[in-house]
Amino acid sequence: MSFKYLMPTKCYFGKGAVLEHKDELKNFGKKAMIVTGKRSSKKNGSLKDMEEALISNGINYVIFDDIEENPSLETIGKASELGKEEKVDFIIGIGGGSPIDASKAIGVLINNKDYSYENILAAPPLKGIPVIAVPTTAGTGSEVTPYSIVTDHKAKTKKNLGQLIYPEIAFCDASYMIDMSYDVTVNTGIDAFSHLAESYLNSNANIMSDIYCEKGLKIFRQCLSKLLTGELDLKLREDLMMVSTLGGIAITQTGTSLPHGMGYHLTYFKGMAHGMANGILYEEYLKVFKDKTRVNELLSFIGVGSIEELGEKLRSILKWNGTVTKEELLSYAKSIASNKGKLKNHPEEITEKELYNIYYRSLIR
Ligand code: NAP
Ligand code: ZN
Repeated sequence: MSFKYLMPTKCYFGKGAVLEHKDELKNFGKKAMIVTGKRSSKKNGSLKDMEEALISNGINYVIFDDIEENPSLETIGKASELGKEEKVDFIIGIGGGSPIDASKAIGVLINNKDYSYENILAAPPLKGIPVIAVPTTAGTGSEVTPYSIVTDHKAKTKKNLGQLIYPEIAFCDASYMIDMSYDVTVNTGIDAFSHLAESYLNSNANIMSDIYCEKGLKIFRQCLSKLLTGELDLKLREDLMMVSTLGGIAITQTGTSLPHGMGYHLTYFKGMAHGMANGILYEEYLKVFKDKTRVNELLSFIGVGSIEELGEKLRSILKWNGTVTKEELLSYAKSIASNKGKLKNHPEEITEKELYNIYYRSLIR
């Protein structure tokens, strides 16, 4: 088997990582743009730490703090205009996957003035200005992946930007998550699990991705018990941050698979949080495998006896009160059946009917 292994992001883990390693910021220029969400980075101390680190290095900065969940191309366009006007040298994404993914796309637009948010999805491979990541969810693993997932309102779905932008540095400090609500903790934690699971069960899985998946899933075993009992202590936060980063490295090697492709429709049309949209499909996704060898290995890593038991556990922590019709699910199944990029990551043949059944059994029956 031939494959490539790449993990170019320098990661610092631990409480106080931003201020302890603030000298790293000197290598990227004289002016930064901080890209963040509306509220959380102001409350959890991550924005304050970064401002202090920049000031002490004599680096000027502007802040764009209007990134919404599942960032739209329009917002990315707006932020990139600010970055161009202010002539920033690098971007610092602080927050969950939304601000970090947005930072990657904004960096590409700032560096490539011939492209705009309206035509960037069709662009050839481009380079962006450097991106530094401070993850405050665990999560997407976006601090180590090259992906940037954006909402394309014209196509009415979420899409990968299609550029490979690795953050230069990731400052991973789990203490920023200490006051995170139970729901955000669960939704983002299940996203991290789903990265490890979809990487492990992927056509592109290889020895390097398996190393990250196996270790990450074994750490997730402890996390799942605590998520079930609601014991949200610092150790859980640190474990989830590690699971998330390991998951990010794993999907960088393999890509994600069916639940991610299928979940985008649930997020776009039903407003379901990203991690929940994956997790809610998991029991039926695992059942669809004809060869269950690796599914059973995965279950043993997380200490769960059967697919049904995992389904029961996920249902007890992921609560969705929305509704969806059979017609809507038929249209989502049709769309994913034509997404050859996602289907090729699933190692077995799968029909549109089977995809519909995953949706239907997860959400209606
Ligand atoms: P998010 O959309 O970035 O944030 C979700 C919510 O959590 C927001 O309300 C945010 O508030 C809040 N939040 C963030 N940090 C917090 C903290 N420490 N304490 C309390 N609340 C906090 O969520 P996410 O799940 O991390 O990111 C999802 C996005 O990433 C999706 O667009 C998904 O498609 C993408 N994704 C990317 C990759 C990749 O490889 N690049 C992989 C998987 C998913 P504020 O808005 O106020 O900050
Ligand atoms: Zn994800």
